Amino acid sequence: MSSRRDRIRAKIMARVEIDPVTGCYNWTGPTSGNEGRGADYPRMSLDGQTVAVHKAMWTNEHGFIPGKKELDHVCRNRRCVRPDNENHVQMVTRKRNAMRREEARRARMSCEEILS
Ligand SMILES: [Zn+2]
Repeated sequence: MSSRRDRIRAKIMARVEIDPVTGCYNWTGPTSGNEGRGADYPRMSLDGQTVAVHKAMWTNEHGFIPGKKELDHVCRNRRCVRPDNENHVQMVTRKRNAMRREEARRARMSCEEILS
């Protein structure tokens, strides 16, 4: 006998390749496409709805995500859906996530400055 939780986990893990170097759970199924800011995030169909796989996976393991929180890819790998390790998908406040994005943007910019 398997619970709904086990079934969801199995459904996701069937399409995941674990990276032996980084430990990322790389989604090999469909994504949100390759355009725009929300691009390239894993997507799947669950109970007739299209959902973000990293959110489905995280919620399945840890429960509901409160309104002021969101999930952040600490490993900076959008395809990663790993829920059980704080170096991969982690729940953070919206504020913290925006700050991290800004830090990443600045880091990118200073690289470009060095290269130009
Ligand atoms: Zn990862």
